[in-house]
Amino acid sequence: MEEKEKLNFVEEIVSEWVAAGGEGLQTRFPPEPNGYLHIGHAKSICLNFGLAQRWGGKCNLRFDDTNPVKEDTEYVDSIKQDIKWLGFDWALERYASDYFEQLYDWACELIRKGRAYVDDQSQEQIRATRGTITEPGTDSPFRSRSVDENLDLFARMRAGEFADGERVLRARIDMASPNMLFRDPILYRILHTSHHRTGDKWCIYPMYDFAHGQSDSIERVTHSICTLEFAVHRPLYDWFIEELGIFPSHQYEFARLNLTYTIMSKRKLLGLVEGGHVAGWDDPRMPTISGMRRRGYTPASIRAFAERVGVAKRDNVIDLGLLEFSVREDLNRVAPRRMAVLNPLKVVITNFNEATGLDATLSPSALTAPPNGEQSSPLFHVEQIRAINNPEDESAGTRAVPLTREIFIEREDFMEDPPKKFYRLQPGGEVRLRYAYLIKCNEVIKDEAGEIVELRCTYDPLSGGGGSSDGRRVKGVIHWVSAPNAIQGEARLYSTLFNKENPDDCAENETYLTHLNPESLIIKPLLMEPSLAEAAVGDAFQFERLGYFCKDPDSTPDKPIFNRTVTLKDSWAKQQ
Ligand code: ATP
Ligand code: MG
Repeated sequence: MEEKEKLNFVEEIVSEWVAAGGEGLQTRFPPEPNGYLHIGHAKSICLNFGLAQRWGGKCNLRFDDTNPVKEDTEYVDSIKQDIKWLGFDWALERYASDYFEQLYDWACELIRKGRAYVDDQSQEQIRATRGTITEPGTDSPFRSRSVDENLDLFARMRAGEFADGERVLRARIDMASPNMLFRDPILYRILHTSHHRTGDKWCIYPMYDFAHGQSDSIERVTHSICTLEFAVHRPLYDWFIEELGIFPSHQYEFARLNLTYTIMSKRKLLGLVEGGHVAGWDDPRMPTISGMRRRGYTPASIRAFAERVGVAKRDNVIDLGLLEFSVREDLNRVAPRRMAVLNPLKVVITNFNEATGLDATLSPSALTAPPNGEQSSPLFHVEQIRAINNPEDESAGTRAVPLTREIFIEREDFMEDPPKKFYRLQPGGEVRLRYAYLIKCNEVIKDEAGEIVELRCTYDPLSGGGGSSDGRRVKGVIHWVSAPNAIQGEARLYSTLFNKENPDDCAENETYLTHLNPESLIIKPLLMEPSLAEAAVGDAFQFERLGYFCKDPDSTPDKPIFNRTVTLKDSWAKQQ
């Protein structure tokens, strides 16, 4: 895709700023450690770290840890791991809680300036007297407390003299402002809850609006980039910075990423985990970075996706197909090809030489017992077929795949009574075994119930390397595995976690959980070529014709498990 690079609107803002002599470009990624990162965060990470990389700036990682009730170090650790895995490194690791003392001092400064007061009303009363969009709010009876009384009460709030909810600190701005956030917003609330970093040192915690802008300012963030819902907070962000006369950080907003068939709210993702609807935050069906990693997504594919969706000023919904397109494109480049069979049908190649002895090049561990449990002789003829590891990458070389008299093919690759244009195997028909010979089906064996249990075929010994004994051409090529050498494992086949394009589109009595797809995970036995014995957890492969797969950490030596990352079918490219 050779197209002229176009800057997104945030990049344009930064590039103009640099051109106008701006120096010390500083961005930050500010997650709240109350859940695992998801693909929406990945977009924000790529944007913030990408700006710094490109224009010679720095990007900090700042944990926005002002709500101890929901936060945890488990989340901090996972967030750091995920950002690194995506390929980014932060300049400084900071926490809003590092700034609690400074924020407290600034609150006192506002009190001294007559710009903040302690309110004894409950949060419900405060909400009820805030007014509406058309009507102004009413002043709190505590609004005109003296500076000394406010300073004293605020110090006692900090000292733990009051219970949760008994008092708050509010800014004194304008109870009639058209921006509801200016109607004396709450700056501090009392929470007698241990914090994952500050422990019990504090029992008052700053609100988001009183922490975020000032934290940016402390870190000399020049471009504070966040999602659109914070646009209404921007005037307040600026107000605190101006009142306190501190470094003038500026906020810019972009549209959050939404994906079809996907929910992105951490609260709802937590609901899936706690409700047991998924196996954990890293369940391969989750839109979390850890889930996608386990599913087989690569960092490069996620970065390419973020680049492709761009940065919009208006909310929109991106087709999940675009994400799948991005991972296919990357895995097509890098994933080694292997053969595996999901729905086995036994094929006996009757003229394939039998019992000529073990092949010395095969390791004994590869010579497993036949999967069907039959005690056939360990002495069987093995021919090592050369298979190409990656047609997109010559340097990936070739490997040996054992061909034996008994093999498995995919059940769907045979039809007893096929329609025209069925180029796979059929009675009397011929097909090529991938990388190997032409085989011809001579006999179909059925059980008592009439189900096909075995095909008897012959092969053309002169048809190796793509030819045939008499120059005839055959259209169909199918994948296969040697029956006595196959490794038995498990395939986990995924589809969308929700069966509704917008899972949040709920009728009465419905929640997003109503739209869970009962078939989002299908487990099947999998027969694999023996080279896969060496695969490590996390390794990605293309199983020819089945899709891209990635070895799952649940694997044991006896049972390797592979997650299907994505099928080979590309519905998105076809739509274009
Ligand atoms: P949630 O509402 O799901 O809890 P959040 O926005 O509160 O998500 P934060 O941890 O506060 O999560 O987000 C950290 C940063 O990531 C913020 O700057 C936020 O704007 C950005 N972000 C979160 N979700 C998305 C998204 N879907 N698309 C783009 N950026 C996002
Ligand atoms: Mg948030």
